[in-house]
Amino acid sequence: MTASYGSFELQGVRFFVGDVLVARASDDGSTLPYLGKLVAIELDETGSVALDMRWYYRPEETQEGRQFHHGKKEVFSSNHYDRVYVESIECKALVLGLDHYHELHQRLAAHSRELVQEGVSADHVYFCRQHYRTDTNTFAPALDVYCSCKRPCNPDKLMIACDACDDWIHGECAGLDDKGIAALDNYVCDACKSKKANAS
Ligand SMILES: [Zn+2]
Ligand SMILES: [Zn+2]
Repeated sequence: MTASYGSFELQGVRFFVGDVLVARASDDGSTLPYLGKLVAIELDETGSVALDMRWYYRPEETQEGRQFHHGKKEVFSSNHYDRVYVESIECKALVLGLDHYHELHQRLAAHSRELVQEGVSADHVYFCRQHYRTDTNTFAPALDVYCSCKRPCNPDKLMIACDACDDWIHGECAGLDDKGIAALDNYVCDACKSKKANAS
């Protein structure tokens, strides 16, 4: 016989169905902990508290690996479910949409161990803008692409708008870091510059 519950308590913190949990991946800490949304809590036949989780993937855990446009705290919702036991749970995490992530990140940047809410420290705040299907290794929705390199934006890094063509150019592609971008009043991309040079 099994029973299901809406929450459980661990070391003084209450975990609810719908929360994002951090689960230990290896005892020696050699593998980054797993992130998953808690979808059900059950007491199994042996009397252990079993947790049904829907995993989030980090870029490194997908088939294509980490790419240029992936942010440091980027994760993907996935269609991969698993059952883990309460003993492997370390703490809670927060997975936000990009807008909320930026908002929170700006407020917290200086204090990474600060608690964002009960059981969630700032270093366990992530953002999600795509869903990853583990059976087809595909991401959805597709991300907008910018710049002459036709790659998406990396939310950790600034882009700069070209005053001539209005396209957004990656800092790296323009040869500028964040400080360099902030210091510029106007900018014309290389493609527009060479177009202009050819015309005159
Ligand atoms: Zn680019
Ligand atoms: Zn341009």
